[in-house]
Amino acid sequence: MNKYPQHLAHQTHHYALCNGLLMQNKNTKQVQAVPYTLRPQINLVSKEQFNKVSQLQPVLNQLVHDISVNKEFLRQSLEKVIQEDEFTGKLFEIYEQEDYTNKFQMGIHRSDYMLHFADDSQKEPILQQVELNTISSAFGSLSTKITELHDFFSNGEYKVEKSNSYTNITRCLKTGHEAFLNHIAQAKKFSSEQQPIILFVVQPGEGNFADQRHYEYELKRQYGISAVRKTLTELSSEAKLDSDGFLYLDNVPVSVVYYRSGYGPNDYPSDAEWNARRTLESSKAINCPTIGYQLAGTKKVQQILADAKNLAPLVRSESHVSQLMETFTGIYALSNPDHAEFIADAIKNPQGYVLKPQREGGGNLIFGEKMVQMLQDEKLSKSQQYILMKRICPRGTATVFVKDGVTDDSFGVSELGIFGTFVGNGQNVFLSECAGYLLRTKKEGVEDGGVASGVAVLDSLAFTD
Ligand code: ADP
Ligand code: MG
Repeated sequence: MNKYPQHLAHQTHHYALCNGLLMQNKNTKQVQAVPYTLRPQINLVSKEQFNKVSQLQPVLNQLVHDISVNKEFLRQSLEKVIQEDEFTGKLFEIYEQEDYTNKFQMGIHRSDYMLHFADDSQKEPILQQVELNTISSAFGSLSTKITELHDFFSNGEYKVEKSNSYTNITRCLKTGHEAFLNHIAQAKKFSSEQQPIILFVVQPGEGNFADQRHYEYELKRQYGISAVRKTLTELSSEAKLDSDGFLYLDNVPVSVVYYRSGYGPNDYPSDAEWNARRTLESSKAINCPTIGYQLAGTKKVQQILADAKNLAPLVRSESHVSQLMETFTGIYALSNPDHAEFIADAIKNPQGYVLKPQREGGGNLIFGEKMVQMLQDEKLSKSQQYILMKRICPRGTATVFVKDGVTDDSFGVSELGIFGTFVGNGQNVFLSECAGYLLRTKKEGVEDGGVASGVAVLDSLAFTD
């Protein structure tokens, strides 16, 4: 194996192209290899810490499920947000009309962590949660494929931690499909020509198409289940419900609705898309996620859960409360008098904090001088739309970034995402797992980050012990 970085980059570039590690460039529209690191991050975290957050994932899966059916909790938590923020308000309006008590729900979550060093003397970082994604959690397919790439070229020098998210997430979709057939669709409901399908709700012109397509192909190959891709706009005219509430596309029943869209206001350019969302949510198809899950993943709910006295009544075991709290950093509400000292501190020491609105998908964070101005704004001090979060401070590691087969040496900081899959209803949990991981690395000094937005690249973990 050749160790010269540029030579290795050329080899890995062809591997990436041949194995579907692909994305469409937002600007040029060309399909390219997704950017990645030449080698994995070796011993970035201890295996023990990695296992700890992996084992916590089923607890988070259950927490999201329990919150989603706890209308009183969501009502109280989001009461002010839904008045101020039209997008969350519209989601909530649909949520209020549905009864989730015994409904089947499916989660494909990703809990994101960064490695925090309190100061220069600290040797071992601690994993602190950045956010919990409960809708459109991306890169489960490509993260498996990048670990395979790193393993293929590892030459026995280190042990790459394989991510099994690709197969686990596909299996979750299959489990939902089976639950639909076994428990929801009455016997002989559909004719033999009406084999139910899985619906992927996608954005028009989606650049991260390969990550999504890999599941579609695997569903067909492994389980013989067909899937179709539709945008919310298309669904506004094509999605139909029968008198029993079953969902159909062109007379074909839909078992599972899997969202890779619908998480931000841009996904709903008109009432037509909101109507489509309402139709899907009210149908008998299993929604991944339901609006309850989506609301459980809002930044406001994250801020409320970061306080142990709010978290404890929602978690089934005390030891899990303390384990979760260890991964949470300080998160504050601008309007809460108990948090006033942290708002004052953020105005004095802006480098220690970040301000976030109720939005998903990257590019929304507010730092530095702009954050200070907003924190001093009288009107915003009563707002519930923003949360103030302590800054997580990772340490850079020497990293070789590869873009289009060309290397670039730089310091990188990494973010670890743990996938979680869940299928259950009011009575039973059919699946609740830690479903693999994603490591993304961005250049040190870059504040916001994401692979889809072109800032971060795919990476993986390796351990030498
Ligand atoms: P979004 O929902 O838009 O993805 P995130 O909360 O995940 O928002 O933040 C986007 C990115 O900003 C993260 O991926 C991370 O790189 C960075 N970030 C978020 N919160 C913090 C924090 N508390 N400290 C340091 N960096 C952060
Ligand atoms: Mg994020």
